Amino acid sequence: MISAWLIATLRCPSCVQETNARYNGALERSVSGLTCRDCGAMYAFRDGYVDMRRDEKFTGKETVYNNDAVDLDDPVIRPPVLSAGVRQRVLRLLMRPQPTDAVLDIGCGNGKFAVWNHRAVAHMVGLDPAARFAARARETVDLVQADARALPFAPGAFDQVYTVDVFEHLDLDGVRDHLRETRRVLTRDGSYFCFSNTRERSWLNRLIDPGRRLSESFHRAGIVDRTRDHLRKGDHVKAVETTDALVRELDAQGFRAVTLWYLNPVIATYVETLGIAAMEQTVARRRKRPDDTNTYSERQHALPTVRDAAGARPIVRLALRGLTALLLCDVAFFRRVRTGAFFLLAKPSPRA
Ligand SMILES: [Zn+2]
Repeated sequence: MISAWLIATLRCPSCVQETNARYNGALERSVSGLTCRDCGAMYAFRDGYVDMRRDEKFTGKETVYNNDAVDLDDPVIRPPVLSAGVRQRVLRLLMRPQPTDAVLDIGCGNGKFAVWNHRAVAHMVGLDPAARFAARARETVDLVQADARALPFAPGAFDQVYTVDVFEHLDLDGVRDHLRETRRVLTRDGSYFCFSNTRERSWLNRLIDPGRRLSESFHRAGIVDRTRDHLRKGDHVKAVETTDALVRELDAQGFRAVTLWYLNPVIATYVETLGIAAMEQTVARRRKRPDDTNTYSERQHALPTVRDAAGARPIVRLALRGLTALLLCDVAFFRRVRTGAFFLLAKPSPRA
């Protein structure tokens, strides 16, 4: 959606940045969009979101998520269960969003985290470079199509900013621009939460790696389908190689890390990546008529149907919630064991 609050908060992403101290990027509203009073750039209202991309092409690294041929996001928003449920629960636990907060989801994808959290806060905005927002997100939360490295918002517009699975797609300049811009749009006592991956590994990988190898052999044998995961990971840069390096980058952009929890997916690898994936694939295959061809896109269309049919049954919903609680044990038991995947909460450091 495009609320009056969103329109009041939006600024021209080219003119509002700190490097352009002469301008503030204030926008003039017209019927079809917004025009920058400083540079004259025009930004269009689209179906349920505002297109805040600058006219010049995105500079720096592009992401496969902008490629329409690679459809990585589900068009339907389902309840937060399994791995997504773990991320959602830790996000709420560490961020503790308040009912008066304005919150920004950077790299929101189809908008699922924004939809799951919008009732807990006053204003929720989802931002993504690709406008593949789900219909439910277009109806319930404010949405903008924009660059995570040039945020189209007034300084101090948000109490909380979060990113889930975004960092690993940015190059080092992108990480710095993203953090500097995030710091700019946050209030002085705001908070920044992120879930991402570095290149670090832990001793628990000795337990996880056999499961991952098994899942790759299952994929080759057609027992599970990891095509979507492969496409996603193909875009990973992991420019920040360790969490220590990330803490240094945060420090340089005016943040201090408050909480750092690691995610060693020991239980998740065996329960979700192997168990659930194999089960879904089996059910999807059973439903298929024998004359159907087995292309990637057909399988992707079959899977949500299976998931929705199963998810409509109370017993399945209960089981999925139970499994999500089980997956949370990975965080509860191993959050102090340094590895690649991490949850981080940071606060702006007092300005000198
Ligand atoms: Zn401008």
